[in-house]
Amino acid sequence: MLALERSKTMILSILQGAALLLALCWLYSVNQRVWGEQRRAAELSAGLLFGGVCIVGMLNPMLQVDSIILDARSALLSMAAVFGGPLVVGVAGLLAGAFRLSLGGGGPFAGLSTILLPILFGLAYRHAIQRGKVGAGPRQLLIFALGLHSLLALLLLQIDVLADRQLLWRVIAAIVLAMPLITWFLGMQFMDAQRRQQTELRLRHNEARLRAISGALPDLLLVLDEDGRFLEVMTNDETQLFAPSEQLLGHTVQELLATSEAEFFRNVIQQSLASEQTQVIEYSIHSPGGSKVFEGHVQRLETPLTQKRAVLLLARDISERVKAQQEQRIAAIAFETQQGIVITDAQSRILRVNQAFSSISGYSADEVIGQHTRMLGSGEHGSDFYQAMWQRLNEEGAWEGEVLNRRKNGEIFPEWLTISTVSDAQGMVSNYVATLADISERKAAEDQIKHLAFFDALTMLPNRRLLQDRLQQALIGSARSGRFAALMFLDLDNFKNINDLHGHESGDELLRQAAARITHAVRATDTVARLGGDEFVVVLEYLERDSQEAASQVEHVGMKILAALSEPYLIAGTLQRSSASLGVVLFNDDFAGVEELMKRADLSMYQAKNAGKNALRFFDPNMQEVVSARLRLEEEIRRGLVAGQFIVHLQPQFDASQGLIGAEVLVRWQHPQRGLLAPAHFIEVAEQLGVIEALDLQVLQQALAVLQGWATQAHTSALHLAVNLSARLLYQQGFVERLLQMLEHSAVQPRLLKLELTETLLLDDMPAAIERMNLLKARGIRFSIDDFGTGYSSMAYLQKLPLDQLKIDRSFVAALPEDAGSLAIIRAIHALAVSLNLEVIAEGVETQAQHALLLANGCQRFQGYLFGRPLALAEFEQQLLEPRRD
Ligand code: C2E
Ligand code: CA
Ligand code: CA
Repeated sequence: MLALERSKTMILSILQGAALLLALCWLYSVNQRVWGEQRRAAELSAGLLFGGVCIVGMLNPMLQVDSIILDARSALLSMAAVFGGPLVVGVAGLLAGAFRLSLGGGGPFAGLSTILLPILFGLAYRHAIQRGKVGAGPRQLLIFALGLHSLLALLLLQIDVLADRQLLWRVIAAIVLAMPLITWFLGMQFMDAQRRQQTELRLRHNEARLRAISGALPDLLLVLDEDGRFLEVMTNDETQLFAPSEQLLGHTVQELLATSEAEFFRNVIQQSLASEQTQVIEYSIHSPGGSKVFEGHVQRLETPLTQKRAVLLLARDISERVKAQQEQRIAAIAFETQQGIVITDAQSRILRVNQAFSSISGYSADEVIGQHTRMLGSGEHGSDFYQAMWQRLNEEGAWEGEVLNRRKNGEIFPEWLTISTVSDAQGMVSNYVATLADISERKAAEDQIKHLAFFDALTMLPNRRLLQDRLQQALIGSARSGRFAALMFLDLDNFKNINDLHGHESGDELLRQAAARITHAVRATDTVARLGGDEFVVVLEYLERDSQEAASQVEHVGMKILAALSEPYLIAGTLQRSSASLGVVLFNDDFAGVEELMKRADLSMYQAKNAGKNALRFFDPNMQEVVSARLRLEEEIRRGLVAGQFIVHLQPQFDASQGLIGAEVLVRWQHPQRGLLAPAHFIEVAEQLGVIEALDLQVLQQALAVLQGWATQAHTSALHLAVNLSARLLYQQGFVERLLQMLEHSAVQPRLLKLELTETLLLDDMPAAIERMNLLKARGIRFSIDDFGTGYSSMAYLQKLPLDQLKIDRSFVAALPEDAGSLAIIRAIHALAVSLNLEVIAEGVETQAQHALLLANGCQRFQGYLFGRPLALAEFEQQLLEPRRD
């Protein structure tokens, strides 16, 4: 009964002891974690812990018989030695030993040996494990525990501390059977704790390493959970983030980003979670450091089932790369323009050409790369041309001009060539970049315009326009040389009869033959022109200096012409007769001017006709009524300018789609006696008189006043005014400043003012005209070329002038719809305007047929009686603007 009781208490205390040991294990783990990396401190406090538990064990033994205390000391200390090492077990052993000695009793020796032996045995086992002599698995541990406690049992038997044999054997049995199990159990716990600790340590090291790696990487590392919440943000450059990392952590992309961006990241996260593969994405953010582009690699993270799933995003700032690629793309696109581009090295050897070059020249890139640019030459330019070009290129770094080159098929074509030099860091030329535009079509259009505009299609003789030009030259030439020149007006006497009786065909044939005869009768250097109808003109130059001699020279030629023209004509199988009347005016200065001379020659011609046909008459100075009338006119113009008699009329301009867009300002003279006069009555005289500048400025002033008035109302504020500008005003000193001042004063928007200039005007002094026009253009003033097609329209100047509009001369429009030549000119002008990016307006549109034909040929803007006559301001506003209000 007593024995049963004892066994019961023993089992109970064994259980108690086991609980104590479990508590120890737990405390031990806590201790290790608390001290962390501080090993000595951890060992010391572990020693204290073990010692303490030993003491508690001794106070609370499983079995105490007399002075024999059976407790778990041996298990504890041996395991402290194996797992804690010398320091731990040393401290624990000292504590336990001291306490055991203080207890006194009969078994101190046995008590001390149950302390010393496990320590030594444990340390020896630890040493063996560290040396790799024995394993540290559960089996080895069990063998160790059995060995240790068998030895302890032998020792107990040896020292024979217990008289009660039966009790002794029970103690021995407990030591040999229960203690190894307890020891083993304890060891297993420690082993587990140690393994956990090692894993933890490894994890900590791994994490530290990861942090170090991510700190060294230029990349940004993010961990986002499946809701898009930032779990981790690692970067060594906060500008990679769109907000400081503290503001990101714990927040979701929805809270931090715009809806579309947040949606993007949500999708990426979902796709990554659903896939094993790393996803590569590209995204851009607006961070404090500017807009940046990132390339991200997104990978699903392995997370325990209980947590939210997450992904890892490793992102690299690729803004620079993207920018570089973008620039490369832009450069590549820019390279493939409409214009041909050739890039050479410093020795003019071709390095690169674009597609446009190949289509222009006919050479593929392979055929020209590595070749000298010489291969493209046409041989049409002399060496001076190239010398001048290179000199300019070397001095100024650029050259441009018209060049004739040869296509692969041998065809020679004009191109507009621009060459620029590229220098290296040392300032030495490293490359040449040439852009070239094929201008053969433009040149053809230009030539066509010239030809159609200056020659009479029927006789191929120069027409009135060209004649005026040649006459102008003759005037200047004779004034310079002092030699006489003559202008002859010639009218076929009975042309009208032939035309009426035998039909147009015969009339045309007669004109052709007459033209040939006149041309044949004069020198090649003289000019024969047809004015229209049956009127011809001859200009004879370089006659004698003496008027009498010159007159007889002219008379000789004149008689020769009259004789030639009075010969019978063979037309359509029948012989026809005709004759001519000839009026002549001699000149050796340029006082009179072209118009005046023409008028005089015309007058003389009528005199000749009145004298009975087939005659020649010189201009009669007695007919000077005209001349004195002219003098009167000059005086009146001067007075009229002072008295403000010059007013403006406005002629509307229309756009096919926008309707009324503005008006041309046309001057009128409110003459006190003669009533309202058109410019034809005074402009030329005003020019010769040198008052045209004053007149034009008055007109400009009035135009600005009109615009100022219109600016205040919505339905008129967008209307522009086109003002005619005379050559002399444009070239006048201080004109640009004056006009800009007037503009400023009136507060009119400069772009509403358009200045109409004529080509001939501009050619007088091109560089000065360009400079002035550019100054005005920079302020917004626009330019139109008036009477376009009647001057020497030349590509070279059209390209250089800052133009906005070409105004097709009304003579071409007037000839529509019958005249095919005029239509061809209009088409060519339109093509030219398109290629130069200019707008076109047709003036003098009088009929629906003309309007329709112009529209069909691309013309969008119109001016002419069909749309409205020039009107005084009040009438203009009443007729054209009032209706627009409703
Ligand atoms: P322009 O610049 O060619 O002006 C157009 C002329 O054609 C105007 O004659 C106008 O009345 C007329 N016109 C308009 N539509 C038609 C039409 O459908 N059929 C016909 N047959 N003619 C039409 P205008 O007013 O007699 O002016 C003649 C020239 O006087 C102008 O020719 C321009 O060169 C010059 N001019 C007019 N005003 C000024 C000015 O203020 N300053 C200067 N320097 N010259 C001016
Ligand atoms: Ca005009
Ligand atoms: Ca005109």
